[in-house]
Amino acid sequence: MKVGLENKQLLEIQELIQKDKDHLWHAMSRYNEKATPLIGMRGEGGWFFDVNGDKFFDGVSGLWCLNLGHGRKEIAQAAYEQMVNLSYFPLTLSHIPAIQLSAKISELLQGSYTTFFSNSGSEANETAFKIARQYHIQNGHPGKYKFISRYRAYHGSTLGALSATAQANRRIKYDPAVPGFLHVPPPYSYRSPFGEHVPDSDLLAADYIDQVINWEGSETVAGVILEPFISGGGVIIPSKEYLKRVAEICKKHDVLLIVDEVVSGFGRTGEMFGFMHSEGVQPDIVTMAKGLTSGYLPLGATAVRSEIYEKFKENGKQDHLRHISTFGGHPASCAVALKNIEIIENEGIVDRVSRLGESILLELRELESLDKVGEVRGVGFLFGIELVEDKKLKTPASEECMVNVIAACKKKGLIIGRNGDTVPGLNNVLIIAPPLSSTEEDLRFMVQVIKSVLREGC
Ligand code: PMP
Repeated sequence: MKVGLENKQLLEIQELIQKDKDHLWHAMSRYNEKATPLIGMRGEGGWFFDVNGDKFFDGVSGLWCLNLGHGRKEIAQAAYEQMVNLSYFPLTLSHIPAIQLSAKISELLQGSYTTFFSNSGSEANETAFKIARQYHIQNGHPGKYKFISRYRAYHGSTLGALSATAQANRRIKYDPAVPGFLHVPPPYSYRSPFGEHVPDSDLLAADYIDQVINWEGSETVAGVILEPFISGGGVIIPSKEYLKRVAEICKKHDVLLIVDEVVSGFGRTGEMFGFMHSEGVQPDIVTMAKGLTSGYLPLGATAVRSEIYEKFKENGKQDHLRHISTFGGHPASCAVALKNIEIIENEGIVDRVSRLGESILLELRELESLDKVGEVRGVGFLFGIELVEDKKLKTPASEECMVNVIAACKKKGLIIGRNGDTVPGLNNVLIIAPPLSSTEEDLRFMVQVIKSVLREGC
């Protein structure tokens, strides 16, 4: 505990810690009687202070969502004004921020899209699955109900989204999953399931989807869901051709391409949306959350190509989507999202991320000369450093090493993450995703801490 705090303050902190231990169930965290929770108090840009007054740079943007950092008064003001003006309104009816936001999303996606709002990334994906199944029924193909996703992918924690999630440790105690979800290998050239040094291993991974659709019978497959870049599953960056090939395969089989942009949307990868790295790809459904509001308020969105939405209209002849969420598309959340997007555009955030991201990646790649760094990967402001014990054999770094590296960064004032709880024995990727508005000085600090910690060893 920090010296210099008054006794009264120390007592208050102790009391908070005790209440935390007694009453607050932490997400994705093993209970540890001895551990002290990091209790955030105040934030400034990419930095936050805990209750002890210690200062940290948030190298993971909260949960990869605090894209514009803390304390944007314009965003808070937009929420305040909306809450005072029209505090709640359901989307069985309509309200102005949701109308404007749906039109803005369509414009940003560079196509004609209709959007259904919810509260989170998980819900956005659940919504996508329901829309896809009902679309096929109303399009005359009622047998198309299966979804294909990739091993290592994360698509959310609710049971449908968890069924698309193919990370064993997140599923084992909650299975059986929802029927109809199939998994295929990811385009992971560093540990390619198609063998070492296989050229075009990413394209083999894409073609595998084609084979699975054939084996299952394309008349049974509703959609393929994927992130343009697997994020939480270990920052896996395929070649630009991969997504193009998957899009072609989906089209060939009348299978909907559902792109999960929950992490990669709104500039994280140096394009407004991650799929835009692959020229000519126009997804059927795009799901969003996190960066949509930069984490200031909860909001999820499922944007659907207007041709698909047509099948829910046809002058009322077709059934409607029997789906609702009380708080989905909350007026204050939509107002916040609009302001967030306005800032991203006005401040040229996407180009900045693309430019600075490339130079950070080059710097981090210098670490590949170290014995314990297997591979450094990245796109925009999303970086992964895969740690190994034996570089030739690619033996994953031990749990102890991973924990030590993250703790050493924290000691130096930097919070970074990892692909924890994903693949048994392969939780060896450090994940770094700083706020998109981080100053160049902040980014230099981040890179310097990571370099010094990894050079010290674990
Ligand atoms: N998809 C992806 C790719 C994600 O990373 C996440 C959350 N980490 C989700 C979906 C689920 O989002 P939420 O936590 O808002 O439900």
